[in-house]
Amino acid sequence: MTTRRISHWVDGKVVPGTSGRSGPVFDPATGTEQARVDLADVAEVDRVIAVAREAAPKWRAASLSQRTEVMFRMRELVDANRKELASLVSSEHGKTVADALGEVARGLENIEFACGIPALLKGGYSEQAATGVDVHSIRQPLGVVAGITPFNFPAMVPMWMFAVALACGNTFLLKPSEKDPSASLFMAELLKQAGLPDGCFNVLMGDRTAVDRILEHPDIAAVSFVGSTPIARYVYETGTRHGKRVQALGGAKNHMLVLGDADLDQAADAAVSAAYGSAGERCMAVSVVVAVDSVADALIERIRGRIPGIKVGPASDPSSEMGPLITAEHRDRVAGYLAGAAHDGAEVVVDGRNGVPNEGFYVGPSLLDRVRPGMACYDDEIFGPVLSVVRVPSYDDGLALINANPYGNGTAIFTRDGGAARRFQYDVNVGMVGINVPIPVPVAYYSFGGWKASLFGDQHIYGPDGVSFCTRQKVVTSRWPAPQASSVDLGFPQTR
Ligand code: NAD
Repeated sequence: MTTRRISHWVDGKVVPGTSGRSGPVFDPATGTEQARVDLADVAEVDRVIAVAREAAPKWRAASLSQRTEVMFRMRELVDANRKELASLVSSEHGKTVADALGEVARGLENIEFACGIPALLKGGYSEQAATGVDVHSIRQPLGVVAGITPFNFPAMVPMWMFAVALACGNTFLLKPSEKDPSASLFMAELLKQAGLPDGCFNVLMGDRTAVDRILEHPDIAAVSFVGSTPIARYVYETGTRHGKRVQALGGAKNHMLVLGDADLDQAADAAVSAAYGSAGERCMAVSVVVAVDSVADALIERIRGRIPGIKVGPASDPSSEMGPLITAEHRDRVAGYLAGAAHDGAEVVVDGRNGVPNEGFYVGPSLLDRVRPGMACYDDEIFGPVLSVVRVPSYDDGLALINANPYGNGTAIFTRDGGAARRFQYDVNVGMVGINVPIPVPVAYYSFGGWKASLFGDQHIYGPDGVSFCTRQKVVTSRWPAPQASSVDLGFPQTR
């Protein structure tokens, strides 16, 4: 049997790679290689960028109504193809179909947001800024915007990026994760069906070679990146050094603070759902529960009690609630943290290395107690189904722990005390905060972004910040004087 090949999407069609390089795409549920994905070389990157650049002036000139129409059609197409897109995501990523459907739904919100682009691109106008002088501002597209995306949301994160970028009048080059690249190709076909002109949306399959060329290419105006912190930092530094606008979203270590007055059953349900959903491969997953001492034992008991009820298995089994990890390498890395935790003095309450299917890249839900900063299981982003509990004497100690962490993506507080919750939202140095909400991913009409090592750049992704990121502002000062009022005046223009 010949291996299925996954290739690039350029100028409205599938284009086989010419580099001679390819990478494996696994079925994480069985551990078998199901396809090979082409990996672009520099010449291929240059060709795709040339296509996107050539398409840019015409797409920019398309009216707001035309661009809106494409977004509305795309909205309908993604909606109609939810199941197909979700099963494609599941087949390469391993997450359950229900989870993948959730991913598609949250991605779709961004296309819906982009349907309102005429209102979003409205500028300002000031009449009579000086006598007879008016000022107005407009937002214009940048040209070619590139998106580089991680494996864990192969449909949603591209939608975070391309919906707003295209609606703003840019053309787009997507470099998806080479681990699960097919969802991008499917969305490219849908955009074509939606009426997006060829060349406006291109998908380049590749690895570091492609990323490096994108970061230095003079015809790329801006780069949206989502991935791990070391690569985000590298992309930000390299891209900005080459004069590009860059937003680079990185990794996370999200803490959920549980106060003494919280509803412990609700908190346990939330912790289990947010820690083990998608096998912990979410940048907004809860990976640390910070429990005040008075409730720690009772909370841990409740979490432990819920773990045996989680059905671990392949996405092809509709009763599965948690799937495998993305690769064998990643599974071994996560398992390594469980081994290391015991060695570092944490208490392994539930060890997910036991009792999982033999084939495939599985680690089961795992629970660690008495974790402390300085242990690798606390300091590193594990990105797997491992929940650590840190016990603290008080709210203040919990807050100090969270604020001392180098990451600042998401956090949550569980309490019935409105005053404590308000204090927390005021004091915590984290970009996205949940109050009795464990995964506070902002809706599409806000913007998504962490603080500290979770985001490099000035603007958050999607929503209003996305519009700002994908456009340049121009301010026009105009005067239409009567000819007889004109005279030479070398002084600096004043408004009074
Ligand atoms: P990753 O950093 O390994 O890869 C992300 C992208 O960068 C991929 O397209 C990959 O091909 C490319 N890449 C990988 N190594 C590279 C290198 N050396 N040079 C240039 N490019 C390189 O991330 P991942 O493993 O695919 O995704 C998981 C990570 O993404 C986690 O750290 C997670 O927290 C993070 N993430 C963050 C957010 C967020 O919004 N902050 C969202 C989703 C995922």
